Amino acid sequence: MIRVLAIAVAITSVVIAATFIARAASLASPQRPTDAKVLLVPAGAPIPLLEESYGDSDMTPYAVAPPGGVIVQPGTVRVPQPKAPAGPRKVGIQVGHWKLDEVPDELTRLVVQTGTTWNGVKEVDVNLDVAQRVGALLKAKGVAVDIFGAAVPAGYVADAFIALHADGDGTGENSGFKMAHNARRGPFEDRLLQTVREEYAKSTKMDYDGLHVTRSMLGYFVYNWSRYQHAVSPYTPGTILEMGYLSNDDDRAILVDHSDAVAAGIANGLLRFLNETPRDQIFGKELVVPQLPLRSPNPSAP
Ligand SMILES: [Zn+2]
Repeated sequence: MIRVLAIAVAITSVVIAATFIARAASLASPQRPTDAKVLLVPAGAPIPLLEESYGDSDMTPYAVAPPGGVIVQPGTVRVPQPKAPAGPRKVGIQVGHWKLDEVPDELTRLVVQTGTTWNGVKEVDVNLDVAQRVGALLKAKGVAVDIFGAAVPAGYVADAFIALHADGDGTGENSGFKMAHNARRGPFEDRLLQTVREEYAKSTKMDYDGLHVTRSMLGYFVYNWSRYQHAVSPYTPGTILEMGYLSNDDDRAILVDHSDAVAAGIANGLLRFLNETPRDQIFGKELVVPQLPLRSPNPSAP
């Protein structure tokens, strides 16, 4: 009897333990709670979403869910709405190549990308100077401003975001500014790009160099939310601006000697975008992006 009881207790313990293990496992991995066709993917877990590499050679072909997770349904990935910012309109500015010693592990490959230098002018110094001027102009108009280095907070949410860089072609031949935004993000990025492009051209008198927009601009890490946790939320309208070529004498003179005009162009573009795009539009509708199959599933992804 005691023996039978002991066996029964042992069996019960195993069942309870197995239940706990199963629960723990289901918390740590994608779940199929009700509908087998709907997959809830928690933040940081792999999602079946094709990630374009844009020539980024060490980018492995997998995607991970951003903060807040995603909901995968056949053909689409739904990104739940983040909490919209409260208070004044908010803009994030990234200073390209700044504070490289503070990047998280997932971005350490960036540490070698220190930016261009020409005639003693360092790109990071130009980026920082312009960012601070833009920040001051926006604050004067009542906009809240965050200025970041290469690293941004995971899932950063704002009414607009701009990444500032300057270019070098090694020859001095190319001139002009370039802009891009990533795919699979909110619907307002074309508008943001256009308003900044128009105001920047007006203020700096520089030409737009659409011929040399690169794949790394189109896949810029700070907007690559399905690859990096330390990316801005896909709801935050974002663009990257290569402000001109430091390697070109005319461009460099504008960037260094007329940084007030450079900053005014950027600030005017951002302010126009904010005026034309109310916050409730930016955060009012759930973002749904197309799903494509993984090229090679990576089960060891975090
Ligand atoms: Zn750069």
